[in-house]
Amino acid sequence: MILGCADCQQTYPLNTRHWHCQCGGIFELKDGPGFVKDRIQRREPSLWRYRAMLPLDRDEHIVSLGEGFTPLIETDVYGLKIHCKVEFLSPTGSFKDRGTAVLISVLKGLDVKAVVDDSSGNAGASLAAYAARAGMASEIYVPASALPHKRAQITIYGARLIRVEGPRREAALAAQEAATRGAYYASHYYNPFTLQGLKTTAYEVWEQLGGRGPDNLVLPAGHGTLLLGAYRGFTDLLEAGLIDRLPRLFAVQAAGCAPLYEAYLQGADEANPVKEGETLAEGIRIPHPVRGKQILAAIRQTEGTVLAVDDEQIGRAHRELAQRGFYVEFTSAAPMAALKELHNIITADQVTVVPLTGSGFKSP
Ligand SMILES: [Zn+2]
Repeated sequence: MILGCADCQQTYPLNTRHWHCQCGGIFELKDGPGFVKDRIQRREPSLWRYRAMLPLDRDEHIVSLGEGFTPLIETDVYGLKIHCKVEFLSPTGSFKDRGTAVLISVLKGLDVKAVVDDSSGNAGASLAAYAARAGMASEIYVPASALPHKRAQITIYGARLIRVEGPRREAALAAQEAATRGAYYASHYYNPFTLQGLKTTAYEVWEQLGGRGPDNLVLPAGHGTLLLGAYRGFTDLLEAGLIDRLPRLFAVQAAGCAPLYEAYLQGADEANPVKEGETLAEGIRIPHPVRGKQILAAIRQTEGTVLAVDDEQIGRAHRELAQRGFYVEFTSAAPMAALKELHNIITADQVTVVPLTGSGFKSP
């Protein structure tokens, strides 16, 4: 396996310390494994049931905390029956663990000893936990505004936490600067192995629906890694002849910081950076998603759309989810708020999946 640039097709070895191509393009994994139904390890209650579909050479490199295989639970919202994929039951309380488990396993195989990332909280906590599990050192750069519970979680795993003043971008630049001093930049949005782990969300949904795909997938999008991971997982299933078509992808952003929404409205192919406005949904407060082009293409291909919801809508949806027994973080309530707006587009006879991405226990 090698890495290749999505723009200029230049290739790089897996152990490169570059996190994007010299032309500025995003890395993709070349020659990754596809989906083979008969190779599911059906007795394995984690994402490693799809071991054969994950890009890892040797089993002894697997670093796992039992991630994946989260429940799919039905509930009624605004007259729609929806299936909630309960990702907040992951080992560190967010969907990020799928991507981190695969990324850290690959890095163990490459003999990496120290990792660094920038994060508003969930990705950093996930990386800190899996680095601890793998015996790697970790350094996490967070914006100074990161929630105290998330900061505490990052440090308890033994990571070095660095708070960076200024907008979210400053934390990213600080992490990249640190990466030039020796640690591997285990970026949850640049690194293509993250998406390899996240594609298992689609595989699981397909299994849990009895061997069919949903009609709609409604999910929060900041860097859009879950959206892209799920898109690729469903694409694998389509190529394997196991579903007839891809689900429509509905990306939900916070109105205070909505670069994908603005690009979609303008009919643009790329998401240009926007001002980082305030929002309760700090997990998707991303003014410049580096995979914006891929995200917009996936949404258009599947005939989905991008929506933006404000804090009042998010707060209301958050309470409504809690009243159904689901305690999530505000970011995870954004798709639920958007469902109300999708009333005529998503209908009651369709199968709709909404991932509940992060735990409410991390909120103040
Ligand atoms: Zn390139």
